[in-house]
Amino acid sequence: MKLLLHTCCAPCSAAILEYLCGREIHPVLFYFNPNIYPREEYEIRKNECSRYANRLGLNMIDGDYDHALWLKRIAGLEKELERGKRCTECFRMRLSATAQLANEKGFDTIATTLGSSRWKNLAQIAEVGRQAAASHPNLTFWDKNWRKEGLSERRGILLKENGFYNQQYCGCEYGMRTKARIPVRQ
Ligand code: SF4
Repeated sequence: MKLLLHTCCAPCSAAILEYLCGREIHPVLFYFNPNIYPREEYEIRKNECSRYANRLGLNMIDGDYDHALWLKRIAGLEKELERGKRCTECFRMRLSATAQLANEKGFDTIATTLGSSRWKNLAQIAEVGRQAAASHPNLTFWDKNWRKEGLSERRGILLKENGFYNQQYCGCEYGMRTKARIPVRQ
């Protein structure tokens, strides 16, 4: 498997990377998250990811940060609740770019760390991921449930062990305003 792994942050990525490397799958990471606001928050999350990838000897491709373009993509959906249509478009922007890059660079599989968070809807991410990969005939979206096989537990352990910065909101200014977040059990 030649895997391009879209990564959203170090806490969501650590257990997945441990799982993959333990099975001799060494992904290239793609940090593409123009949804994150403000820029300072974006830089902190990116640097945490980069630091951890370096420690594991994995390469990380740094995507563009164009928050203005992201705002255009979700225009009209600002008031949607988390896990609603705005999030679908947000996932689509990030995973379509992942699929395009994977296709250009000869990867056969893409995946994302987004689904490791209990705040996310796995089915929503998987549907967008499959659609993104479907635009490229030689590409597959790996829709593994990254919360099973002890990965959720390892996520918490590695977060503490590595002292990762642990953000308190999903990423954008609209998710930041969400007061009552209810985790999804899947
Ligand atoms: S809440 Fe999170 S997934 Fe939804 S639009 Fe904002 S950054 Fe994207």
